[in-house]
Amino acid sequence: MNGKPLHCIWLLLALGAILLPLQGEKPEEVLNPRKTSGSYVADGGGVLGPEYVGLIDGICRELQAKTTAEMAVVTVGDLGGLEIEEFAEKVFRRFAIGAKGRDNGLLLICSRDDRFVRLEVGYGLEADIPDALASRLLEREALAHLRAGRFGRGLFLAARDIAVQTAGAAGVTLAIAEPAAWPTEVRPPKPGKSPQPKKKKWDPLRSSLYFGGGILAFALLASVLTLRRYEKARGRAARARIAGGTPASVVLAWIAAAISFFLILGFGGKFLTPFVAMLAAPGAATFARLFTGRILKRRLASYRLPCAKCGAAMDMVEDGEDEKFLTEEQAAEEKAGGMDYEFWHCPKCGAEESLAVKLGKAGVCPQCKRRTLTSTTETVTAATKEQGGKTRVKETCLNPKCGYSRTREQDTPRIAAAGPPAPSSPRPRPPSFGGGRSGGGGSSKRF
Ligand SMILES: [Zn+2]
Ligand SMILES: [Zn+2]
Repeated sequence: MNGKPLHCIWLLLALGAILLPLQGEKPEEVLNPRKTSGSYVADGGGVLGPEYVGLIDGICRELQAKTTAEMAVVTVGDLGGLEIEEFAEKVFRRFAIGAKGRDNGLLLICSRDDRFVRLEVGYGLEADIPDALASRLLEREALAHLRAGRFGRGLFLAARDIAVQTAGAAGVTLAIAEPAAWPTEVRPPKPGKSPQPKKKKWDPLRSSLYFGGGILAFALLASVLTLRRYEKARGRAARARIAGGTPASVVLAWIAAAISFFLILGFGGKFLTPFVAMLAAPGAATFARLFTGRILKRRLASYRLPCAKCGAAMDMVEDGEDEKFLTEEQAAEEKAGGMDYEFWHCPKCGAEESLAVKLGKAGVCPQCKRRTLTSTTETVTAATKEQGGKTRVKETCLNPKCGYSRTREQDTPRIAAAGPPAPSSPRPRPPSFGGGRSGGGGSSKRF
């Protein structure tokens, strides 16, 4: 198909249009520090600096070593439009903070630009740290420092008070010392600026619309190209092929829609919007192609080739009457399905024109170069799950003046074994949090 490279470009453009807005600050993007660096602290908001990260990490390490309770401390630039409770809950669930079965996880999370801090408490610690106590732990020292922009000191003190409280409930004393001198606070990036360049918020609706629009534009272009190719084609057979041709654009539109649908879902979009968009756009593309095809077929019925000499509409010699115009080789090609020949006759000036169209039902004979090569395939040994099989391919040239014939045997691959794949050996898991759950308890504060 002539438009193939163009189709691919449109497909790529459409995919690009959907991938571009697939960015934004989301709970799913907070990196699990246990996995990335072995630390308990993820400073996505860029407000702590290495010294405070080290100090807070020390608290979390000691807490886990002495009580098995896990505490993660997370800062973000902003909450991407979510409530801090929802954001915290998603991060908690994804990290699975706390030992599995004990659910003794704690998440201290702070949003720099929204100016919110929250302590999310795992199931297993809710009795030790009820919401009212969580609130007091944040208020005791941390809030004042956070309000003054001293994120490092505020979060260090919050983490310390939480850890001491948790350990105390388990009958354990922690040896956390305040640093001799408070490290210099890093200057927090300006609101709206992350340490990594700030990304656009992703909107599944917009992605769906972009992508649906891309598919429609692509379908429109494919229809225009089809019309142009139709108008350029000389002869009825050539035009019939274009009018009823394989609608590659339609197939591509559906494939692209399916891919984008799962992409949007995978990036957290709601089901309905991409579903509707990804059904409507390729649906419209299909309809447009079918509609174009119908119009072209109707036009084809009354089509007459214009005479190259005088411009008058020529008459086509009907099939069955055109044998006398065909050479023996051409007749063989038509019979084999490799070519179609058309003969036109001008009633006004008597000019004649013959047109040839390649058809795909026969191959090119290596001996006489005519499109007269047919082939039959028969199975010699059937392929099984254990071993491959053999087929015999017989190629015969239908050109009576040629007589080429060749038989060759071909190996066929084994049938892929169905059923469950072989169990793979358990892979060593990278260190992470322990698999704990949160029941949504805790406390949030604005600072
Ligand atoms: Zn003429
Ligand atoms: Zn031949």
